Amino acid sequence: MRSIAVLGATGSIGTQTMDIIRRYPERFRAAALSARSDAEGLFRLAREFKPDACALIEKPEFIPEDLRSIQWFFGETSSEDAIMYTKPDDALCAVVGIAGLKNVLAALDVCKRVLLANKEALVTGGKLVMEKAKRLNKEILPVDSEHSAIFQCLRRAMGNVPERIILTCSGGALRSFSKDEIENASVSDVLKHPTWKMGGKITVDCASLMNKGLEVIEAHHLFNMPAEKIDVIVHPQSIIHSMVEFSDGACLAQLGEPDMRGPIGYAMGDPERIDYGAKRLDFAKIGSLTFLEPDTERFPALSYAYEALKEGNSAPITLNGANEEAVGAFLRGEIRFVLIPRAVRYALDNAKTTVVSSVEDVFEADMKARALARRYLAGV
Ligand code: NDP
Ligand code: MG
Repeated sequence: MRSIAVLGATGSIGTQTMDIIRRYPERFRAAALSARSDAEGLFRLAREFKPDACALIEKPEFIPEDLRSIQWFFGETSSEDAIMYTKPDDALCAVVGIAGLKNVLAALDVCKRVLLANKEALVTGGKLVMEKAKRLNKEILPVDSEHSAIFQCLRRAMGNVPERIILTCSGGALRSFSKDEIENASVSDVLKHPTWKMGGKITVDCASLMNKGLEVIEAHHLFNMPAEKIDVIVHPQSIIHSMVEFSDGACLAQLGEPDMRGPIGYAMGDPERIDYGAKRLDFAKIGSLTFLEPDTERFPALSYAYEALKEGNSAPITLNGANEEAVGAFLRGEIRFVLIPRAVRYALDNAKTTVVSSVEDVFEADMKARALARRYLAGV
């Protein structure tokens, strides 16, 4: 029996994780659950899964009578407090954005393994996170589907040296939009993801290709690969989840229906594999798997991410902070879609790149990036 903290339990990854726990009550026990403000959602989960502790960033008016035997934590450090209190075997980190970075660092202190969905934690604090994991000899298992695929392929290397990582990319909701159509894309256009159903922020990132850019940086940290050895290919069917090319020319791929319970279950179950009720692939019905070069003219965010990764230091934090700020404004209906990459470009051009050696440095660079993005968006 493994105990697990699910951070961001009310979200898209969080609820799919709870579905796996629900299917395997003899293997997993939810020790701690956290969310930001969705108290009703967290109450429902707490009632069903009976965790030892729950955490909410925003304190609700009251805790229902039947849930008062659970230890509740509130406020900015509530997720970290809940992990410290329960000391579970695993933490599944599925908070969205840099807000989840401190969870990941705290989970490395107390848990045996970190199951990582929260890519922004690696984009912003990748060096700190990976160094800490190495120092404490803790395992980080990727939950992002591409990185789970790469992880699975690398495990079959058997001495064959990996030479190139090939991240596949659905192309997002605007893949076939013209430049003019992208100019006027609405929130509902952008949220219509063709193959995956996910939270709002990542769905917007998929449409701008920033998600793939963040994933390039995530892959760099997880697999210690330089930017030049990480390629992106658009694969609209989302059947191949990613590939690794080895020194003998062999290319290994991991395939499956697009269902996040695959990579979540792989990380949770490791070293055993979990049958989560996956739909089987019907190749004749799929017919063909197609591939295209990403169009960085229509979707410049991907090249900005490569640029930030190559520049290093605080540049990826600037990229991420400006993006989070602009995506938030877009989802609130305050700005047009095309202003997201433009705000990121402005922040990259105007932020001073600084050395990052602590978590305080990360949040300082993030704050400056957000201020630059806001300044840009206020002026257009
Ligand atoms: P959602 O927006 O669906 O869920 C986010 C979760 O985090 C919610 O439980 C939310 O609580 C909580 N949360 C949000 N902000 C904060 C905060 N400031 N502090 C603490 N908790 C917070 O996101 P997703 O599940 O889609 O994504 C989660 C992460 O996983 C992201 O980093 C994303 O990139 C990554 N990922 C997601 C995939 C997917 O299929 N969804 C695929 C691959 C990676 P509340 O409900 O109260 O707001
Ligand atoms: Mg992904």
